[in-house]
Amino acid sequence: MQNVLLNNDVEMPILGFGVYQIPPEQTEQAVSDALAAGYRSLDTAAAYGNEEAVGRAIKASGIPREDLFVTTKLWISSAGEENARRAFHTSLRRLGLDHLDLYLIHQPFGDVYGSWRAMEALHREGVVRAIGVSNFYPDRLVDLIDHNEITPAVNQIETHPFNRRTVDQEVMRERGVQIESWGPFAEGRNNLFSDPVLSGIGAAHGKSVAQVVLRWLIQRRVVVIPKSVRADRMAENLDFDFELTDDQMASIDAMDTGESLFFDHRDPEVVSRFGKLQPNI
Ligand code: NAP
Repeated sequence: MQNVLLNNDVEMPILGFGVYQIPPEQTEQAVSDALAAGYRSLDTAAAYGNEEAVGRAIKASGIPREDLFVTTKLWISSAGEENARRAFHTSLRRLGLDHLDLYLIHQPFGDVYGSWRAMEALHREGVVRAIGVSNFYPDRLVDLIDHNEITPAVNQIETHPFNRRTVDQEVMRERGVQIESWGPFAEGRNNLFSDPVLSGIGAAHGKSVAQVVLRWLIQRRVVVIPKSVRADRMAENLDFDFELTDDQMASIDAMDTGESLFFDHRDPEVVSRFGKLQPNI
């Protein structure tokens, strides 16, 4: 597996496995299948309700801890210096681990600055190898960087052919923050899996649409964490060992709408709605 080097010299696999929307009772099997297929990076969150199941699969795999890269995320209701520290240790316990590889602020809402101070302290204590954020637009990201000690190692944001985030990626590159895509397939929205441009490029390489999309992201040095509950697709999504031409990259770039297919974190209604969500954590 190729790695990217984060801004604190920690190596992170460029491709991992995401477990959002996998029900807790299905997650242990899905993660076990993913680990058997060769995934070594796992992405979960307190809000997904499946950290314990991820932990059981890790334990059952017998894979040495140092060979794994485990990410989880802090939800809004646990924001703030004391709450974030408590939430971190709860996640660690649920995962059955003694340290995390990456801990992210899940949403740019609530007492983000208190949370960040707690995360900086946890990093200094050595219980998390890298800290970062998710769903931060460039303005919020730069503000967090400029008014704190540690620059986030990663910003995990919606990134796929219909929303390619090149401006965001450029700001992150300038600031030393690794971009990580969530929803690399846009969860299949806009008929991504039957898109004629992506299908045509796939046919030229003997690859599937999913493989073309992941390759396009990886060729842009975007970290990806595709989700699937199917072992055949898990294996398919691991195979990105081919190269897209400049023209093929450009035709995928041209699919960009410049807009989210899900929600805009700068929309006051979305900010308010997220703040009221009460996941069972
Ligand atoms: P995604 O990976 O874009 O899409 C997943 C969907 O694609 C599932 O319906 C899956 O179906 C299908 N699929 C997967 N591989 C396929 C293939 N080779 N061919 C055809 N269909 C395929 O969506 P996502 O799960 O939202 O995003 C990935 C990860 O990003 C999440 O799991 C989570 O870890 C993270 N995430 C983070 C945030 C955030 O706010 N930070 C938000 C969303 C997601 P099957 O499972 O049936 O195969």
